[in-house]
Amino acid sequence: MAEVAYEPVIGLEIHVQLKTATKMFCGCALSFGEEPNTRTCPVCLGLPGTLPVVNEQAVRYGLEIGLALGCELAPRSIFHRKNYFYPDLPKGYQVSQYDIPLARDGRLGDVRIHRVHLEEDAAKLVHAGASGRIHSAEASDVDFNRGGTPLVEIVSEPDLRDAASAAEWLRLLRATLRRLGVSDVNMEEGSLRCDANVSLRPAGSEQLGVKTELKNMNSFRFIERGIDAEIARQEGILRGGGRIEQETLHYDVRSGAISSLRSKEEAHDYRYFPEPDLVPIVPTAEMVERARAAIPELPADRAARFAGELGLAEGQARLLAFRTEVGDFYEAALAAGAGAVEAPALANWTCNDLLAALGEGADPAGSKVTPAALAGLVGMVSAKEISNSAAREVLAKLVADGGDPAAIVAAAGLGRADEGELAAVVERAMADQADAVEKVRAGNAKAIGAIVGAVMRETKGRADGGEVQRLIRERL
Ligand code: ADP
Ligand code: ZN
Ligand code: MG
Repeated sequence: MAEVAYEPVIGLEIHVQLKTATKMFCGCALSFGEEPNTRTCPVCLGLPGTLPVVNEQAVRYGLEIGLALGCELAPRSIFHRKNYFYPDLPKGYQVSQYDIPLARDGRLGDVRIHRVHLEEDAAKLVHAGASGRIHSAEASDVDFNRGGTPLVEIVSEPDLRDAASAAEWLRLLRATLRRLGVSDVNMEEGSLRCDANVSLRPAGSEQLGVKTELKNMNSFRFIERGIDAEIARQEGILRGGGRIEQETLHYDVRSGAISSLRSKEEAHDYRYFPEPDLVPIVPTAEMVERARAAIPELPADRAARFAGELGLAEGQARLLAFRTEVGDFYEAALAAGAGAVEAPALANWTCNDLLAALGEGADPAGSKVTPAALAGLVGMVSAKEISNSAAREVLAKLVADGGDPAAIVAAAGLGRADEGELAAVVERAMADQADAVEKVRAGNAKAIGAIVGAVMRETKGRADGGEVQRLIRERL
């Protein structure tokens, strides 16, 4: 009997810390690593008798996110109390949204968005060993600085089918949020946190299988690995005739092991009820218009424009669009080239050579290379004034010292060897490499490499490999 093939089904829940000036329901400033418990007040400490007030900037950011994700905005949404006990939650409940979220039914790329809602973050537990402050090995401290930070939770529909696409989609979401400027979206620092829901079903089945939830993975690599590990674990259980338990899981990045945190809680476990101390959110037409106007060209649209209008390869279009600062540099260089440089060639130089020379994650705008200099360099390559290898040398000089590429070429004598000069060098090299010439004539095409190499050495990389080959072949 043929083995059943299983199809993975994945849905993501993403928590985004908003970059507002103050917390969700009080006037405390957001904390970025300050002394513990210095960004607190009676409201975010949950003292009795205090009253929360909704942060207008958080609502605005929430509306922008909803609109950017193509959602319908609720004409009126309300807050609920989600009740549970944990030491990082002094009130005994989290203020969140429940049956009427701020926004719902959207789409980003190929994935539908189920809902977008506002809530507050919990405080942070500092476990023994993580800080020198704690005296007992069993104790943990609570730092309330993070408590009450505004969060937007984004819940996708279960539209993803493998771990790599889940990570890729999350990259698109992160780029979109970053472009909106509503969050630092830093996974290591926890301003973007992702839970992955995973289930399997027999391929071809329409029905969803029982899912598990992998909590709080803090890098793209771990999300991908965690999902793959969970798919493998579930497949093992199903093939062994077992059943999947609905539970919340932890993926240990060091060992690769998956362990159970708790059996899955149901909504009724939280005793959700409407928050009586907060008024409903009723966005006015003016607020919606303002949010809409604040949305710039988003990465998915920019990538489509780069691929469609500029003819860039998909991967490069995405790289340039997902890293706004690189895309901006590229477009500035394209404008500086004023039609004299071809968009795909410029994209190659930007994505491959420039980024490699600057180092991973660098912002080209902060380097000594100006957009005009890069455009000038690529223009000289296209006009065949310099060879590719000479251009790389010039780029290295631009990265180190800045300057004008044409001036560098002139000063260093990097201009392309002209045909007469090159022909002479080729003839000399062929005379010196008589062996190689014989081999090529006898049908060993690869032997031409030795002759090309000799020419390149002689011209110090100022010749074009293709042209050298042509000149050699003409003389064979
Ligand atoms: P819960 O009530 O357990 O929170 P939801 O229906 O609210 O479940 O969905 C939470 C997340 O899990 C969403 O991202 C959703 O797309 C995803 N999800 C729901 N069912 C499945 C399933 N069977 N397999 C994988 N993901 C799922
Ligand atoms: Zn406060
Ligand atoms: Mg849910």
